[in-house]
This record gives sequence, C-alpha cells and structure tokens, in this order.
Amino acid sequence: MNETAVVLLIIKLMLTGGIMFFLYQDARARDYAWFMWTFIPVIAVFAAGFAGSIITLALIFLLYLLTRPKGGLVKCPHCGKKIHNVLAFCPYCHQSVKRECLRCHDTVDWEAERCPHCGSANLTKF
Ligand SMILES: [Zn+2]
Ligand SMILES: [Zn+2]
Repeated sequence: MNETAVVLLIIKLMLTGGIMFFLYQDARARDYAWFMWTFIPVIAVFAAGFAGSIITLALIFLLYLLTRPKGGLVKCPHCGKKIHNVLAFCPYCHQSVKRECLRCHDTVDWEAERCPHCGSANLTKF
C-alpha cells in the first residue's frame, strides 16, 4: 500500500465514522431504527475504490434524510437530550415528554400551561 492509498483509506474511515455518528444521534433522537442506520454506512468501507465509497456514503445519507420521520428536535424535559418533537416518550430516559389534557384527552406539550385545544388548565403533571 502506498502513501496515497493510506491517506485515502483514513479519509474514507473518518467520513464513514462521521456519518455513522450523525445517523446514530439523529435516528436515536427520532426513535427511528437507529441500530440499523448506525451500521449501514459500514458497507461504504467495502465499496469499490475511493469514489465508490464516497458515492455509497452520499446515497445512504440522502436516503436517510428522505426517509427519516419529519419534524424538529426538542429537549427532553427530564434528561435534556435532543428528541423528536412528536414522541410521547423519551427514547433515552423512557419518561413521558407530553402531558394529557384531562378534559379533552388530547396530548399537550410538556411546557404548556393550558391545553391549546380546549383551554383547560387541568393537565396531567407526570
Ligand atoms: Zn429523556
Ligand atoms: Zn383539552
């Protein structure tokens, strides 16, 4: 193996590692098959040639962005980790991150003082 090949291999491993790290964090926060997504980029290491690896990584990344559950990330009120805003339970600490309105039984954001649907202040506290 010559020097260029070693440098390209290092770049390849760093890029793969970076994408694995990103996918792990983002997929875990969205509770979206994070185990699978974390390890899929490993295929890129075995792809033919340097360009092949980069293209494989780019395709995996694109596919992930297109298929992941849409919506922003919010902080879990219990453990402070970033989590998908539609989840009722935190994927890290497994605590409830939404309240329930005791009048209309709709889900209400954790920070809300009143139900945005019926205006009731009678919300669950846990
Ligand atoms: Zn949490
Ligand atoms: Zn309500």
